[in-house]
Amino acid sequence: MNRLDTSIQYIKGVGPQRSRTLSKLGIKTVSDILYYLPFRYEDRSNFTTVSDARPGSLVTIKGVVTKMQNLRTRSGINIFQLVLDDGTGRVYGVWFNQPYMRKFFKVQEKIVLYGKLERYDKLQINHPQYEVLKPDEKEDSIHVGRIVPMYHLTQDIAQRGLRSISHQAISEYSRYLVDMLPTKLRARNRLVDINFAIRNMHFPANEENLKKAHRRIIFDEFFLLQTALALKKNRVKTKSDGVRHVVGKGLAEEFIRGLPFELTDGQKDAIEKIRADMGSSRPMNRLVQGDVGSGKTVVAAYALLLTAENGYQGALMAPTEILAEQHYVTLSNMFMKHDINIVMLAQGLDPKARADVLDDIKKGRADIIVGTHALIQESVEFKNLGLAVIDEQHKFGVYQRARLQDGQRVPDILLMTATPIPRTLAMTVYGDLDMSVIKELPPGRGDIITYWVSDSKRERIYNFLREEVSKGRQVYIVYPRLEESAASDIKAAKFMHEELKERIFKDLTVELIHGKMRPREKESIMKRFKKREISILVSTVVIEVGIDVPNASTMVVENAERFGLSQLHQLRGRIGRGQHESYCILISDAPTEVAHKRLSAMTESEDGFQIAEEDLKLRGPGDIFGTRQHGLPEVRFGNIIRDMDIMELARKEAFSVISFDPDLKNRENRFIRGVLGRRFNTAFNMAGVG
Ligand code: ADP
Ligand code: MG
Repeated sequence: MNRLDTSIQYIKGVGPQRSRTLSKLGIKTVSDILYYLPFRYEDRSNFTTVSDARPGSLVTIKGVVTKMQNLRTRSGINIFQLVLDDGTGRVYGVWFNQPYMRKFFKVQEKIVLYGKLERYDKLQINHPQYEVLKPDEKEDSIHVGRIVPMYHLTQDIAQRGLRSISHQAISEYSRYLVDMLPTKLRARNRLVDINFAIRNMHFPANEENLKKAHRRIIFDEFFLLQTALALKKNRVKTKSDGVRHVVGKGLAEEFIRGLPFELTDGQKDAIEKIRADMGSSRPMNRLVQGDVGSGKTVVAAYALLLTAENGYQGALMAPTEILAEQHYVTLSNMFMKHDINIVMLAQGLDPKARADVLDDIKKGRADIIVGTHALIQESVEFKNLGLAVIDEQHKFGVYQRARLQDGQRVPDILLMTATPIPRTLAMTVYGDLDMSVIKELPPGRGDIITYWVSDSKRERIYNFLREEVSKGRQVYIVYPRLEESAASDIKAAKFMHEELKERIFKDLTVELIHGKMRPREKESIMKRFKKREISILVSTVVIEVGIDVPNASTMVVENAERFGLSQLHQLRGRIGRGQHESYCILISDAPTEVAHKRLSAMTESEDGFQIAEEDLKLRGPGDIFGTRQHGLPEVRFGNIIRDMDIMELARKEAFSVISFDPDLKNRENRFIRGVLGRRFNTAFNMAGVG
């Protein structure tokens, strides 16, 4: 047995009771505690003296409790306060409405307080973090006189307790840690060994060591993630059970030559790559990124025709019924001249019609099948699927991606997204895909001018909209929600629709569209909007993706602070699709700094990538990173923005390891294999990676 798998119970000072408490923190073995890393440190090698302490700064002060009392203010607030004296002066530690704090302290005891120092009529720290020291605490104690680790706790265990256990575990066991990284790899990247890293993560000898340890831990996280991705990518790459298409002569090329416009460089490049991918017997796994309106549909159409002319079926899936419908119409028009049978598996079909479509798909009478992701549900059986195109990839999980490969043949897969993915994120979540980026928009589009205005300008905005409509243009007005709630003053689409229709734009046609409508209703409204029978379309975010009405030149977004940056960018992509000058008006009086930054980013940039990068910075990598949900190794310490350079190193090394040793069979890589297998067993199965 691996010594690190020893139960935590056998560490000195733990026992059955403590070990139950620890298991609530997920700590069951020695290995668990070694990797239960602090989230913060206190530098107690240098306590601040009260006489030097600057109000407004974070301080750690050590001293003796000279006085304590519970008070009650006239307004009924309970206050517990103690006075700490360190010989140079006195500081008050104050707790509101926690009278029981009293029992944790004694007069004459030595304590440490940590927190933000405030100056009122006296120096004071509100709700400080605290630790009671033993009277005989030595200077070489693990609790004072050094940089001290602070852990996340449960109620039943104190910092000191956990710190002692972790110290004990480290001194007994850290030498048994095996380093998964080969020595040369470590040297190349100036990484400390794992034993050093773990020891110094818990009990750093100094700042410098802590930094080195931290860098190593982050590298490991990224390295494991990238190795998982490299394995996954490699598995797909080396498969030769994909569909080999004959490329370069048929309908698909004819289609490109017959287009009424010249392809942009980005489109040309994407198509070139798709030719190579689809012409090979290795399954294609390509993501095409292009901002809204960059012309991804043409690229998809090319690929679909290519599979059809080779006698296979092509599927195109969109995240919503409206979009699927729109794709269906677009493709039907594009392929009018060709002998291609396109079907749409709409949700609203009656059972008989649905059965017919399913039968056409099964028997191979349908060449191209358009639908929502319902297409990959079990009831749909393809005769010979050669290509699946998934539009707006970000709405689909990897799970669904994998589903498509369940059949005996592995179809080519083309993912398309209009959500620009910053490089760092692309390297991670989509690190197993090949990527094409369409950078430019087709020429001849009008500019979009974005304004951020206060609610008080409402009258002027309405006048402006009226002017645009009188010029023949159409307008979107978007609200964050459909119905108002009593608790907030956020404007709601339903109510505002009435207001606009009955009062403000009485003489114009104002309609409402939202996500809770039946597909048929939505469809009919979109058709009328397209035919210019509607001047002002009030909506919720249902129009976020894909809607293409070039005559709509103006968009108003109400309570714009309620939307994410990427979402705002997607919304704005609905305008600026024709040759007219377009206007995006963001209404917001939001006082927060984040809202302020978001809205400024929107007025300053039209570049989706720049906006996505900004979004990532503002939101932090937390949930968009979503590795958990993708079944990939989790990243806890690394931050893909702050630590981008480490991510690049880790990616390079991981991909190089896998390219030389695709199954991690070499002796020097056996620990990498071990860690991957052990830690990510369930979510990430080494034997059968998607
Ligand atoms: P998206 O990338 O958002 O899916 P679309 O494929 O819907 O963009 O393209 C938007 C519009 O631009 C469509 O009307 C399409 O016909 C047109 N288009 C695509 N490529 C070009 C091009 N190279 N030159 C001019 N117009 C183009
Ligand atoms: Mg599109």
